[in-house]
Parts: sequence; structure tokens; C-alpha cells
Amino acid sequence: MAFMVIKNVNVLTMNKEKDIIENGVVVLDDHIIHDIGNEELLDQYPCDHIIDGKNGMLIPGMINTHTHTSMVVFRSLGDDVPNRLKRYLFPLEKMLVDKGLVYLGAKYGILEMLLGGVTTFTDMYFYEDEVAKAAKELGIRGVLGETIMNFPSPDSEEPYGGLAYSKWFIEKWKDDDLIIPAVAPHALYTNDKEHLQMAAALSDKYHVPMMMHVAEMEYEYKQCIEEHHMTPVKYLDSIGVLSDRFLVAHGILVTEEDIDILEKRKVGIAHNVGANSKGAKGVAPITEMFHRGMKVGLGTDGPMSGNTLDIVTQMSLVGKVHKLFNHDRRLFPASEILEMATIGGARALNLDKDIGSIEVGKKADLVLVETSSVNMQPIYDYYSVLVYSANPSNVDTVIVDGKVLVKNKQLVQREVATSTTIDEVTNTPLAIMEQLKRVREKIEKAANKL
Ligand SMILES: [Zn+2]
Repeated sequence: MAFMVIKNVNVLTMNKEKDIIENGVVVLDDHIIHDIGNEELLDQYPCDHIIDGKNGMLIPGMINTHTHTSMVVFRSLGDDVPNRLKRYLFPLEKMLVDKGLVYLGAKYGILEMLLGGVTTFTDMYFYEDEVAKAAKELGIRGVLGETIMNFPSPDSEEPYGGLAYSKWFIEKWKDDDLIIPAVAPHALYTNDKEHLQMAAALSDKYHVPMMMHVAEMEYEYKQCIEEHHMTPVKYLDSIGVLSDRFLVAHGILVTEEDIDILEKRKVGIAHNVGANSKGAKGVAPITEMFHRGMKVGLGTDGPMSGNTLDIVTQMSLVGKVHKLFNHDRRLFPASEILEMATIGGARALNLDKDIGSIEVGKKADLVLVETSSVNMQPIYDYYSVLVYSANPSNVDTVIVDGKVLVKNKQLVQREVATSTTIDEVTNTPLAIMEQLKRVREKIEKAANKL
């Protein structure tokens, strides 16, 4: 057996007891966490591949439960403009989004996520197959769904073309070890009852996640009340699409009764605190949801909405926004915020048996956060340092499925086994950034015409 050992680390396991092992050792056997303990394990598992954690913190890989990664190509465009979605995003996507742009945006966004310690991301966009290809090349885990909506999209001339694409996409990726295909109707205001039920049937048939923007926008809420005399959550429940495979993105405009419904149906929640605040959308009542034991994870939303893709940045915001909003500094101790960033996200995606904590038998998705930078000292409370002092650039090493993808804060260049056509050179961070700069001009020209 070929073991890999990580030593000299403080292990924040995020198991049920939230055990912390100081000066710990974690042993990986291929893609699985094989043993966890103290230094005596070093004698038990002699091996060549040893990572010295240099007294840093080893945490479970962080999970981004909601984003539209490829939108990173539009980042910083149309900020601070009211009605950005319909004024800029939808027209720009119609004009410019093609396979190449989605693929490039996905590679760039995944690079940013990996460098920031995200090991699993949840994505909904167009040409989702390109996102899957980029994820496979760079080695990140992805829960990916093609957007379904009632008007022609960049990759479908027909309304609801996303449904047929989803079926094809699920068939293609359902047995992959890193990609989990999903069904992703965009929202209530872009899907009718019949197609939402068809999407739910697809999720049911293939046992794949279903994700959707829910209770996010004022106009979505008003329209639903006017048309159906029900809140969005109540309406979705009345048409039978909510289940324990359903992931609500946002869930801001919910009533007490809605929370009861979401709890009863064991629905997962992607909380996008940064994007929600920047978009002035409101504060989702996750304090109540989390304390009821519901499945709450953190997300960034698309990089045009929240401008970041990492979860470290979100963690501090969760604490600050909810403490401020509720006038209660006791809310959300830092350990609970790291819980949402890791095992909480895994629960929301029903992946908590495999990922989300550092436990024997789980998949080796791990992040080593260094503690040698000035912003990381002193340390009295590991969780507090991670949530309030750390930034994404403190992420030193990232392991996904037992493979070291980031080392010494740099992307590790690796052989691409899935394709023989990919030029190794195009996957360096510098090359990806150069390609992004080249499309920037084209995008700016198009935006100026809007
Ligand atoms: Zn979104």
C-alpha cells in the first residue's frame, strides 16, 4: 500500500464531537483517510510521501454550495447597478457565452477556488459539460447542473432545452468519481409547474441533487403570491418538488411556516451571505435553520454577484452579518461557522457520508492552512483564527480525493489523464489568466453597447 502522511498539524476534525488533535498525524491510503492520531503513527506507517504541516491547521476541504463559476469572466462589471441581472447579465450571456468562454471561466474559477481551499463546488450554468471537463482536468470535486429555463439560453435555441441537456449530462457523468451531476432549474420566475415537475422527476429517476434559486428576489416572491396565493416555498411543496435531494439557493424570503416545510422535507440550504449583502437582498434566517439542525452550507453565488469564490471570505461575513442583524454577539460561535463551511455543506448536498470532516474512512479532501503569516498569530482559538483572521491566501496545501493539487500556495502541475488533447502549458495559472485577459476586451465592448 502507498500511504501519504501529514504530520505536525493541528487537526480540526469537524467530527460530531468537533475533536481537535494538536500536533496530530493523518494517514491517507490512496483517496481515503486511513488513520488519525498522534506522532506514534509515524512509526506505524513508514512512507516516503510525508507532508510537514509546520504546525498549521488541517481542516476538511471547504464546500461551496452555490455558484456559477464561469461567470467569473464578467466579474466587476455592472457592480452597484440596480437590476444588474436583467440589465447586464442576461443580455451579455445571450451575446457572448459559448463553450470556450464557459470552459475558460470554469478553469479560472476552479483555480481560484482550489487556491482558497475549496475542494467541492456546486455549480449551475450553461454548457455544464465544459465545467465538468475543467473540473476533471484540475482535479476538484463538483456537483454540477445545467441551467433550465423558459427562454432560449446560450446553449439551447428552444425554451427548456436545459432539460434534455440535463438528461444527457447526467447519463454521461453519473458514475464519475469526482463529478456529481445534478438537475438545476433556474428559478420559479423562469420555470413553470410542468417543467419543475419534470426536473424533479429527473432528479428522482437518477437519484441526483436538484438545486434552484428559491425565495431570493422580491419580484419572485410577489409574483408567486399573486399567481398562486402562496409563498415560493409553499408553492414548491404544493407541486411536490421538494425532497431531501433538493438544495435551496438563498432562502431569504421565507416565513416561519416555510421553514417548517423545508425542515420537514429535509431540504438543504445554500447560504450566500456575501452575495446577498452586496445585492441588498436581505438576511436569510439561517440562525433559526441551523439551530433547528437543518442542513445549511455556505455558498458564494456567481462571481458577478459576490465577486469571490472562496469560502474563507464567506465565513467571517456569516458571523458579522448575523451578529449585527440580530444584535447578538453570542450568535454563531466560530466553530459553528466552520461547521457550515465544511460538514454543513456536505450535509446540504447529502455527501456527508463521504466528505466534510476528517474521519477514518472518508474521502481525503483536506486543506492545510498555514499559521506562519503575520495575520495568523497569536492563536488562542483555532476556529476564531480561521473564521476572523484568515484570508484565502493562508491556504497552503489542498488535497482532493487523496491528490495534492495545491502545494506551497501554488497549483501543482499534474498529468491530465482524461484527455490527450490538452496542452499542459494551457493549465498553468499564468496561462489561464492570460486567456482571461484576452476575452476581457471583447466583453467590455459588448457591455458598453448595453
Ligand atoms: Zn445563483
